Amino acid sequence: MRTYGCQMNVHDSERIGGLLDEAGYAPVPAGQTPDVVVFNTCAVRENADNRLYGNLGHLKPLKDRTPGMQIAVGGCLAQKDQAAITARAPYVDVVFGTHNVGALPVLLERARVEQQSQVELLEALEVFPSALPARRASAATAWVSISVGCDNTCTFCIVPSLRGKERDRLPADVLREVDVLVAQGVLEVTLLGQNVNSYGREFGDRAAFGALLRAVGGTGLERVRFTSPHPRDFTDDVIDAMAETPAVCPSLHMPLQSGSDAVLRAMRRSYRSERFLDILDRVRAQLPAAAITTDIIVGFPGETDADFEDTLRVVEASRFAGAFTFQYSPRPGTPAASYPGQVPPEVVAERYGRLVTLQDAMTLAGHEAQVGATVEVLVHDVDGRRGRMDGRARDNRLVHVAAAQGVRAGDVVETVVTRGGPHYLEADGALLAHRRTAAGDAWAAGRLPSTPRVALGMPGVGAPAPLSALSCR
Ligand code: SF4
Repeated sequence: MRTYGCQMNVHDSERIGGLLDEAGYAPVPAGQTPDVVVFNTCAVRENADNRLYGNLGHLKPLKDRTPGMQIAVGGCLAQKDQAAITARAPYVDVVFGTHNVGALPVLLERARVEQQSQVELLEALEVFPSALPARRASAATAWVSISVGCDNTCTFCIVPSLRGKERDRLPADVLREVDVLVAQGVLEVTLLGQNVNSYGREFGDRAAFGALLRAVGGTGLERVRFTSPHPRDFTDDVIDAMAETPAVCPSLHMPLQSGSDAVLRAMRRSYRSERFLDILDRVRAQLPAAAITTDIIVGFPGETDADFEDTLRVVEASRFAGAFTFQYSPRPGTPAASYPGQVPPEVVAERYGRLVTLQDAMTLAGHEAQVGATVEVLVHDVDGRRGRMDGRARDNRLVHVAAAQGVRAGDVVETVVTRGGPHYLEADGALLAHRRTAAGDAWAAGRLPSTPRVALGMPGVGAPAPLSALSCR
């Protein structure tokens, strides 16, 4: 399985893995020829289609030499290009979309029996993906999807047309999945949604996301995160829930996109720079140690030098711990692709360079300010050869920790930051503490968590029971 794009796709691939496991497939060891290759594609990244067709062309000789081998293409690009994929690469056996991930095993079987490519795409969600089984990639951390789709209409974004309207999962279903993960030793869950904090819109409860954060924080998890919120829906109630729930981590990814109000208007982002900065102030008032990261697009159509200066000004005032920065390029199918005032690529590149220079300096300064601080690190990887362990602090900063005897991936250590690097913190001294965890036991035994197929996937009609009515929380 090859996965491109965002966390949604990474998590969908866990579902695809779980479905294939259930259908009797198993991952092949590296170097062996698989019976099935699945591409889970992304339509957002530049040149996504060239990359896909390049990969498919690369695979064709192997497929020709391997009787019975099948290729399936799913995800956002499949949802967008549909039958164009088999027209261009007729040797692809299955094309499936973002709304019918669960159909993949049946489509593979049908393609095998009928000896014909199967292209099946739906316009609306068939089964909430979280109702499908999942093969998880980590013993310690897990994604849990709380909603899919998006009701916003940001003019640079293809997601709403490919993932559909927002559908919210019932709180009880989310909590049941979290409970299953906690029982298997998972320590950290990231709640996922295209617009995660508008959760509850479907059942008319504006306080639903804060309530869900509090409830998930009471399941026994050590760390709760969420991504990605939209500034428009970021209420004081959510900030209160973050501050009052010890398991919710002091980290926040808050997409700015632009610091210019004119550009935000053209992007159809409903907040303005002042409101954005006000949210950050209110978050920091309650969570002074919060590490806040962002997304920024440079060179949106019509962006003037003055607009870009506004972005630099807001970035400086925001004191982001890090930023994902993008050079705008038109994406077919989005409104902004046909906007007048497309900014010449060399201008976009020059502005982008200035933004990256500014943000890199601020990220480094933020990391250097951490020197001497005690951090709790959830270890993700132990690299004995390099004498190093990698993990994440509670505020989600990457920490390189000097290797220590007996620490396994999935364990939790406490250490002191000795150096701030450009994209990470270093902790070279002896550990202050090491806690063996159930996740570490699972990792050491080669056991990964799984969540089974559940019957209650799709939201029902009407409002769900309030979270306060759920027993045990
Ligand atoms: S909020 Fe905007 S950028 Fe995010 S998925 Fe929805 S339309 Fe796309």
